[in-house]
Amino acid sequence: MIQEKNYAIGLDLGGTKILAALIDEQGRIVHKTTCPTLAAEGQEAVIGRILSSVETVLTESGITVTSVRGVGIATAGVIDTKANKVLYANNLGWEHVAIGQIVSERFGLPVQLINDANAAAVAEWVFGAGKGTDNVIYVTVSTGVGAGFISDGRLITGKGDSAGEFGHISIDPDGPPCACGNRGCLENYVSGPTLAKIARTRLANGEKSAFLSQYPLEQITAKEIGEGVMQGDPLCKDIHLRASRDLGAGITSLIHLFNPELIVVGGGVMTTGDYLFAETEKVVRERAISRMAEQVRLVRSSLGGEAGVLGAAGLFLHRNHQPVRALTQLQT
Ligand SMILES: [Zn+2]
Repeated sequence: MIQEKNYAIGLDLGGTKILAALIDEQGRIVHKTTCPTLAAEGQEAVIGRILSSVETVLTESGITVTSVRGVGIATAGVIDTKANKVLYANNLGWEHVAIGQIVSERFGLPVQLINDANAAAVAEWVFGAGKGTDNVIYVTVSTGVGAGFISDGRLITGKGDSAGEFGHISIDPDGPPCACGNRGCLENYVSGPTLAKIARTRLANGEKSAFLSQYPLEQITAKEIGEGVMQGDPLCKDIHLRASRDLGAGITSLIHLFNPELIVVGGGVMTTGDYLFAETEKVVRERAISRMAEQVRLVRSSLGGEAGVLGAAGLFLHRNHQPVRALTQLQT
């Protein structure tokens, strides 16, 4: 009797921790394990922890490897999804690590790498708010600003796996120079560190905020601003209102380019951003071409810290069973 392969393993390789999870076709986490990455101990040690994390979820869940379709690995680094290599990962100190091949050889399973924003997009598409639709965009507003695109049922990765640099579309050609070489990039108006910088500058210039004044200037981050908005602080609200105009303009461009059915907005800045989200949606509804605006829903992400493992595993659990790339496939 042929054993049904109803599971996939998702692994989220972060600079702080490694999360591995065995996930079923409904997106339920059957078993998960987490361990610190400890990147300073070197590449071999981290690879060892990745392998033992996969081993642990298999052993502790009691699911045999023959029931598993594959292992998806989500990471923040620069990756090559065809070769399944991490080309460069600052947070791990890695360069050209063939982690896909290493994991595949050890377990005899197909392995697929995917970047963080794309993993979140796949997670929403396969298991989250985007279930049943084939045109989903995931937007993240965090330390950086990025996006993942599912268009007509395909994850768009581009020639060099670099598609989705939403934070580097210019919203002002005469705006401040960006580290990427462009000017007026969206990321320089709405990312977490940018909002914190705006708040510190406005306070230093004499503007008042009863909420923010309880913190020393250097301790103000996007989190404090978000809390200030929830307390009704006018300066914090104004910072989010201005950010919503820029983010809304950016998202409107995405709607015009991709004609999506669903846009899911996530990321750290959005976790305290009821007001920011509502104002951003208002801008989108005002600005987008009405036909396309009518076809799109905007929602906030509800998958949280497990989006990475769900998306990585989701590559193998989607109803089409058509992962992004040719996989590192050792078995027939
Ligand atoms: Zn840029």
